[in-house]
Amino acid sequence: MQTNFSLAQLADPHVAESERILRKCVHCGFCTATCPTYVTLGNELDSPRGRIYLIKDMLENGRPADKEIVTHIDRCLSCLACMTTCPSGVNYMHLVDHARAHIQETYRRPLIDRLTRAMLAVVLPYPSRFRAALRLAGLGRPFVGLFEKLPALKPVAAMLKLAPASIPPASPMASPGTHAGQGAKRGRVAILTGCAQSVLDPAINETTISLLTRLGVEVVVPEGEGCCGALVHHMGREAAALASARQNVDAWIRAIDQGGLDAIIITASGCGTTIKDYGFMLRLDPAYAEKAARVSSLAKDITEYLAVLDLPEPVRKPGTIVAYHSACSMQHGQKITRQPKELLAKAGFVVREPREGHLCCGSAGTYNILQPEISAKLRDRKVKNIEATGAEIVATGNIGCITQIASAAKLPVVHTIKLLDWAYGGPKPEGVSDAKLVAAE
Ligand code: SF4
Ligand code: SF4
Repeated sequence: MQTNFSLAQLADPHVAESERILRKCVHCGFCTATCPTYVTLGNELDSPRGRIYLIKDMLENGRPADKEIVTHIDRCLSCLACMTTCPSGVNYMHLVDHARAHIQETYRRPLIDRLTRAMLAVVLPYPSRFRAALRLAGLGRPFVGLFEKLPALKPVAAMLKLAPASIPPASPMASPGTHAGQGAKRGRVAILTGCAQSVLDPAINETTISLLTRLGVEVVVPEGEGCCGALVHHMGREAAALASARQNVDAWIRAIDQGGLDAIIITASGCGTTIKDYGFMLRLDPAYAEKAARVSSLAKDITEYLAVLDLPEPVRKPGTIVAYHSACSMQHGQKITRQPKELLAKAGFVVREPREGHLCCGSAGTYNILQPEISAKLRDRKVKNIEATGAEIVATGNIGCITQIASAAKLPVVHTIKLLDWAYGGPKPEGVSDAKLVAAE
C-alpha cells in the first residue's frame, strides 16, 4: 500500500512503525473472510482491510480520531485472526494498538463510556478491587433487565451477567515464594499470578504449580508481579500498560538474578501474547528495552513448556471426549496450535476440534463488556460449534474464554492444565465425568 507520510510525521517512531506495517498491506482482502466482525456484520469497515484504511487515513492526515473510526476500531476484537490469514505479514496487532493509543489521546468519548472504561481500568487489573467488585455485583444483579433496556448501561448489564454467583477464596499459593520441585530438579520457572484469573479461578495456577513441582520443576512466585497490562493496553491506555510491563520486567529480572529462570510460565494466553510483546512495547525505553526483550524470550504458555519437558506416561487414562477451544491469543497471538492438543491426546483424552475454530468466542478481554451484542452473537456461534462435536467437556487455555463459553454452554469448561493434571495423578476437575477412566498400564 502506498503511503504519504511527511518526514516530520515519520520522525515519530510510532508513526514510522505504523507506516512500515501499512506499506506491507496489498489490499488483497484475504483477511476479511476470517475476521469475526466482518463475518458477523458484513461491513467492509468492520473488516481488517477496512480498519487498515481508516487507520491509514487518520494517521496520514494527522487527524484526531472521530466517531466513525472509533466505532469500527472499538468493534475490533484484537483476535488477530487477520494476522494468521494475511499472506503479506501485516502486523495488524501493532497497527491497531497504535490506533487505540491515538484514539485514547485524541477522542473524547461520551461520559458513560469514559466512566465505564475508567472503572474497568482501575478495577480489573487489581485482584483485591476486582474481588470486592464481584461481591458488589450481587446487589446489582436484580437490575440487569433494566440496565439492558438502556443502551448506555448495556456494558453494566453485561458485567453483572458475567460475574460469577460465588468467588473462590484467594489462593495462598499466589503469594510470593518458592515451591520446590520433587525429586531430581528438572528446571526453575517463574509463574505469572495475573489479575482476573487469580480471582475467578485460582485453582488454575494452584494446579499448574502442583503438576510442575511433581514433575521436578521449582516454581517461583516473584515478589512484585502484577497484571500483565493487556486489559489497559487494549483500551489504548499506553502509560498504564507500560507501567505494568516495567513492574513485571523488574520482578522477573530480580528472579533471574536470584537463581536463574528457564521460563516465565503463563496460564492465560491473553497475558502470554502481551508479555511476549514486552520487547516491542518497551523498545523505545533505553532503561528497559534489553530487559524486556529478555523477559519476552523467556515467556512460555504452560502447554508450550510442558511440550518440551518429556512427560512420563500418565497415571490414568481418562478416555473423556474433549472439545479443545483454541483461544485467539493462543492460536493467532502466539501461534501455539499443536501442543495443547498433543498433550491432551498423550494424556489419554479424545480430542475433537470444533468447526470454525479460527473464529473468536467474543470474550477478548473487556470486549464482552464493552460490545455485548456482537460478543453474544460470537459466543452463541462458538457454543453451537462446540456442542456439535459431541464432547463431554471443553478445554481451553484462557480464563476469558472459559468465562465466556461457560456463560452459555451446557457442558463444563475447564483450563487444559486441570485435565492434564488429572491424568498425571492430580484430583479430578469439578464437573468432569470419570465414567471412561481406566488405570494406565
Ligand atoms: S483482530 Fe480480529 S476482529 Fe480485529 S480486524 Fe483482525 S480479524 Fe477482525
Ligand atoms: S490479508 Fe494482509 S495484505 Fe491482504 S488486505 Fe488483509 S492485511 Fe492487507
